[in-house]
Amino acid sequence: MEPRKIPRFLIFLLLLPLAASAGWLREDAAIMGTAINVELWHADADRGRALIRSVMNEMHRIDSLMSSYKPDSELSRINAEAAERPVTVSTELLALIGQALEYSGITHGAFDITYASAGQYYDYRRGTRPDSKQLAEALPAINYRHVRLDSEHSTVQFLQPGVRIDLGGIAKGYAVDRSITMLLEAGVRNALVSAGGDTRVIGSHWDHPWKIGIRDPRDGDGIVSTLPLEDAAISTSGDYERFFDEDGVRYHHILNPGTGDSPREVHSTSIIGSNATATDALSTSVFVMGVRKGLKLVNSLPDTEAIIIDNQG
Ligand code: ADP
Ligand code: MG
Repeated sequence: MEPRKIPRFLIFLLLLPLAASAGWLREDAAIMGTAINVELWHADADRGRALIRSVMNEMHRIDSLMSSYKPDSELSRINAEAAERPVTVSTELLALIGQALEYSGITHGAFDITYASAGQYYDYRRGTRPDSKQLAEALPAINYRHVRLDSEHSTVQFLQPGVRIDLGGIAKGYAVDRSITMLLEAGVRNALVSAGGDTRVIGSHWDHPWKIGIRDPRDGDGIVSTLPLEDAAISTSGDYERFFDEDGVRYHHILNPGTGDSPREVHSTSIIGSNATATDALSTSVFVMGVRKGLKLVNSLPDTEAIIIDNQG
C-alpha cells in the first residue's frame, strides 16, 4: 500500500503512543568507583532508555580497559610488564596515554600519570601513606618522560624500573566524552553525563541551561555556586573526595609529582571547557599548580575557565 493511502486517523493512532512516551529520562549507577548519572530527552522513551544502557555499558568497557584495580585490565598489564619490555595495547588506551603525556607537557609535569609510582603506597580508606624510605625510592620513578609510546607498534614501555601509571586523573573525563559522542551520534540533542566530578552537557534541560553546582569543599551538602551551562564540560577536583587527616594535615588523592605529597594551597578547582577529557586533566593539574600558576595556565588556553577555592575558602 502506498503511504498516502493510509487513512489519516490511523497515522494519528500509530503516532499517539510514541508522542505519549517522549520525555526526560534519568539513570544513576556506580561504575569506575564513582557515581554515574545520565539524563537525556528522547522522543521515544524506550529508545532513550536503551541509549542510557549503552552509555552505562561503555563506562563498564572503559573501566575494564583502564582500571588500576582490575588485575586483568590493559592498564594493569602495562604496570606489570612495561618496565621489562614494550607491552602491546589497544590504540584507544595508547591514544589516551598519549593525551595524558601531552597534558604533562602543557602543565610542566604537574599532571603526571606516573604519580602512581608513589601513589600506590597511599591507602585513603586505611589512612596509610608511604614512609620516607618508600617515598625516596618512588620519587625518581615519577616522571612522564619515563613512559615511551610507540604508535606504529601500539606499545607502551617504561624506561625506568619502579614506574607505575594510573589514569584516575583523566579516564572519567574520557568516559564522559565517549558517552556524549555516542549520544550525539544517536541523534540525542539534550543530555547530561557525569562521572563523579566530571560532567558534560549538550543542549539544554527543559528550556533552561543545565545547572551544575560547585560543592563547598568543607560542607558535605553545601553548594557555593551554581553555573548555567550549555554544550560544555566541567570538572571539579577536591581534597574532600578521598582523604584522611593525620595530626591536622590532610592527605588526599591528588599528589604533587615533585614531592609525592598532597598539595594544600587549594581545596578545590573547577575547570569549565568544551570537553571533559581536557577539563578532567586540567582540574587535577590546576589543583597541583596552585592559584597563581594554575590561573596563568588557564588564561593561556582557549575556551577554558576556572573556579578555584583556596585554603582560605
Ligand atoms: P576525581 O577522581 O575525584 O574525579 P580528579 O579528577 O581530581 O578527581 O583526579 C584525582 C585522581 O587523579 C586521583 O585519584 C589519581 O588517580 C589521579 N592523580 C593524582 N595526582 C595526579 C597527578 N599529579 N597527575 C595525574 N593524575 C593524578
Ligand atoms: Mg581530574
